[in-house]
Amino acid sequence: MMAQFQTYSARLLRSVPLSEFTKHIEFEVQGVPRFGFVAGQWLSVKAMTPEGEEITRAYSIASAPSEHARFAFCLNRVQDGYMSNYLCDLGEGAEISFQGPFGDFVLRPPLRDTLMIATGTGIAPFRSMLHGLSESGHEGEGTAGRAGAPVAPLQQAQFWLLFGSRHEQDICYREEFERLAAEHSNFHFMPTLSRGGPEWQGLRGYVQEHVKEVVVDRRDMQAYICGLDKMVSANRELLKSLGWDRKSIRYEKYD
Ligand SMILES: Cc1cc2nc3c(=O)[nH]c(=O)nc-3n(C[C@H](O)[C@H](O)[C@H](O)COP(=O)(O)OP(=O)(O)OC[C@H]3O[C@@H](n4cnc5c(N)ncnc54)[C@H](O)[C@@H]3O)c2cc1C
Repeated sequence: MMAQFQTYSARLLRSVPLSEFTKHIEFEVQGVPRFGFVAGQWLSVKAMTPEGEEITRAYSIASAPSEHARFAFCLNRVQDGYMSNYLCDLGEGAEISFQGPFGDFVLRPPLRDTLMIATGTGIAPFRSMLHGLSESGHEGEGTAGRAGAPVAPLQQAQFWLLFGSRHEQDICYREEFERLAAEHSNFHFMPTLSRGGPEWQGLRGYVQEHVKEVVVDRRDMQAYICGLDKMVSANRELLKSLGWDRKSIRYEKYD
């Protein structure tokens, strides 16, 4: 028998452009005081096309779990796609319906040194995870520090975020990740551009061209990869060719 999932309604609170084709959109779930999920999970959004066809599409939650009923998406307009443009065009106060949360692309304890690899809106689950990890004592995973203060999970291992974009202006949430890196010496933000202009001082090329710089000859780390199939496959193959156990490579494909 098919499991029945609850359908929720959520109201759009804020829609902010991140780049020419990408938006950060915040919603509030209606009728509940708190909406629980684990960082890395996704929601299944339903909509009716003008032709009267009901469609559903998956979107990763881009915000950290919290004590309230809010969540955010990081959305890319897909040419000729219905749902992505419908969501990007929604105005404040508009309502959507969705089911979830779903998915097991979540951080597995105990935390190990971790390489996160994303392109485009594949950054969404990592933003959720990293904000969740950086919040002091989050989900009770923090341990007491020397002065008795809770140690945020982000301080318990090294984290690298290898984030591929085309152009400099496409690096979503750049300031947030740069701030996180400035505040946490064990978080390393590595944006790389496939079409960076001459003024770009940072990494160039595809994400998979920089994986070895992080892992060197280590096989005791954990990798999480999120984005389009081609990128995910290229990075999985690379890590496997470096002798990594497939259990140490977790991934979410968007297409
Ligand atoms: C688990 C999961 C999580 C996801 N999370 C996000 C997210 O956080 N943000 C986000 O923007 N998208 C995310 N996606 C992709 C999303 O579900 C849709 O596929 C996407 O928004 C396109 O839907 P559409 O109805 O606009 O286009 P469709 O009508 O489904 O597709 C139109 C055309 O574009 C192609 N296409 C589909 N998706 C993409 C894509 N992502 N890039 C390029 N071409 C594509 C299709 O092959 C098709 O030819 C996720 C997908 C999965 C499976």
